[in-house]
Amino acid sequence: MSRSVLVTGGSRGIGAAIARAFAAAGDRVAATHRGSGVPDGVAGVRCDVTDEASVDRAFTEAEALHGPVEVLVANAGVTDDTLLMRMDEKTFTRVLDANLTGAYRAARRAVGPMVRMRRGRMIFISSVSAYAGAAGQANYAAAKAGLIGMARSLARELGSRGITCNVVTPGYVRSDMTDRITDARRAELMRQIPLGRTAAPEEVADVVTFLAGPRAAYVTGAVVPVDGGLAMGH
Ligand code: NDP
Repeated sequence: MSRSVLVTGGSRGIGAAIARAFAAAGDRVAATHRGSGVPDGVAGVRCDVTDEASVDRAFTEAEALHGPVEVLVANAGVTDDTLLMRMDEKTFTRVLDANLTGAYRAARRAVGPMVRMRRGRMIFISSVSAYAGAAGQANYAAAKAGLIGMARSLARELGSRGITCNVVTPGYVRSDMTDRITDARRAELMRQIPLGRTAAPEEVADVVTFLAGPRAAYVTGAVVPVDGGLAMGH
């Protein structure tokens, strides 16, 4: 059955792979971008998740094209790494605003129509940093850990309405975001990954589409690692 899917941050990396995977499965997919476009076969809607009105417009556009959003993937995210001593408040709050409050804005805009339909799937893209922490990522890890608390609260609020809320925690996935990792940090991470390799964005997309699909109907409030064993789920 074709569903209306909205993926935030679907212009590249993991979000683009997720959007492509839903489209390949026959869903009607809208993906957000900030001017850089989206993959073929996917409808691009402009959206900055740090702006509530922009999130609202993106949903309104997606709804006009595909009907009420049945699957929300809150994927948009940024890093701005630095050690706490150098992390000013702006750097901290900017990363929280995009990764955590941005997901809240999308979830809040999505929830009304989902409640009316009495069905929906929300999937939040967090990170192993949420529970393992990472030096230089106090802002990012706090935001990603916040997503877990938020998603589990939403799972409790919305379960009776047929809406599931789950979190995926990727490890080290090849994308623009991880291109910036230093060689020394890359080597250290590789030593810690039992599977001994990085992930392709499509490997995250496979788990996301599973959580959005009928075979995951009884899964809610779950945190699903896709990390090659990097954090062993902790
Ligand atoms: P990329 O940097 O490749 O892509 C980030 C995406 O987020 C882009 O589509 C970007 O849009 C979008 N985005 C950033 N800020 C905003 C904003 N304010 N409003 C709307 N869209 C925004 O990252 P990845 O694909 O690697 O990461 C995707 C998600 O996965 C993120 O949440 C990230 O934290 C998480 N993750 C990634 C891991 C990895 O190893 N790569 C590991 C764990 C988690 P635009 O093109 O317009 O800039």
